[in-house]
Amino acid sequence: MIYLDNAATTKTAPEVVEAMLPFFSEYYGNASSIYTLGSASKKALNQARRTLADYLGAKQEEIYFTAGGSEADNWALKAAAEAYRDKGKHIITTRIEHHAVLHTCEYLEKQGYEVTYAGVDENGIVKLEELEAAIRPDTILISVMYANNEVGTLQPIREIGQMAHDRGILFHTDAVQAFGQLPIQVDELHIDMLSASAHKVNGPKGVGCLYIRSGLKLRSFIHGGAQERSRRAGTENIPGIVGFGKAIERAVRIMPEKTKKETELRDYLIKQIYEKIPYCRLNGDRSRRLPGNVNFSFQFVEGESLLIMLDMKGICGSSGSACTSGALDPSHVLLALGLSHELAHGSLRLTLSEENTREEMDTVVEAIAEIVGKLRAMSPLYEDFMKSQTAGSCASDL
Ligand SMILES: *Cc1c(COP(=O)(O)O)cnc(C)c1O
Repeated sequence: MIYLDNAATTKTAPEVVEAMLPFFSEYYGNASSIYTLGSASKKALNQARRTLADYLGAKQEEIYFTAGGSEADNWALKAAAEAYRDKGKHIITTRIEHHAVLHTCEYLEKQGYEVTYAGVDENGIVKLEELEAAIRPDTILISVMYANNEVGTLQPIREIGQMAHDRGILFHTDAVQAFGQLPIQVDELHIDMLSASAHKVNGPKGVGCLYIRSGLKLRSFIHGGAQERSRRAGTENIPGIVGFGKAIERAVRIMPEKTKKETELRDYLIKQIYEKIPYCRLNGDRSRRLPGNVNFSFQFVEGESLLIMLDMKGICGSSGSACTSGALDPSHVLLALGLSHELAHGSLRLTLSEENTREEMDTVVEAIAEIVGKLRAMSPLYEDFMKSQTAGSCASDL
């Protein structure tokens, strides 16, 4: 099997699993209990919190554990909207956010808030002028993702944060795809709230965190016990949190090496696809993208068919995001980049890990070339297109 869907989820690293195991069977105490067994859990909880806080240049008490990235996004947006509703009811976000942000914004619109969805350029980078022009006296929150999960584009977070802070507007970033992949310093980037998730960075599923800058008066997300400073009640998921901490410790340790390896593999894969397969285009910015992200559209090809045929060869990829691949609508991200419906439907996302090899890339390119050839051979549109090409002319890329 060749796994190239690391933006959907990652393999839990063996050292992460190993760190988690004792907290199921040996140190199973409730972190709120005062006996020794409980304090072992409490200690592990605090250590994980410290690891995450250090990575972000934040204070420990600014990290709140959640059950994942979606929960963190929900909490940040809903609580900020409520807390600042006396100041205004206008929120700015972008058209390329994850559904955890977009659908929360749609919910807030039903609650009487107004949301501006700023556009992006053809490479998927937020247009700063458009964002700035959208700011109004009643704008209370700007939420822009750090790195896009489909096309890997990195956003100018520092500039956006600065813009928000200069005007006294809160700034939230969904950093799920960037967390543990890039260095992040919340103060330098003017971030007030940041969402992260463990399973996108070789940690376990179902655990994440929300960074909340101290001083922000956000309401509790779950009411109940005093866990997470009374803001997110419920007995802590200690094994998951320990795994998250370990995953970030590992991610920080291997970051330079991992970034170098994935960037080289990514660039190799992009080059090979361009060389071996005609009528395709790279989606997203060529250089301002996550080290492991490759996203192509192949003309006259249906992404879903391509995925199924790749799966038969043991290759795991995705067309759009994991959440959209069940749906018939093409990816909202690719449409926001200005792709036609046809090209958006013909997309393939391959997201790498540090474990992938050059040989795997060769195998994958060969498989894609073969499958794309087969699918095009069955396409009447492709046949018409080829007939319309004058004999002997060079086949140019899109
Ligand atoms: C995966 C992802 C999420 C959701 O995180 P979960 O932990 O799966 O809830 C949110 N935002 C982005 C950008 C993601 O890639």
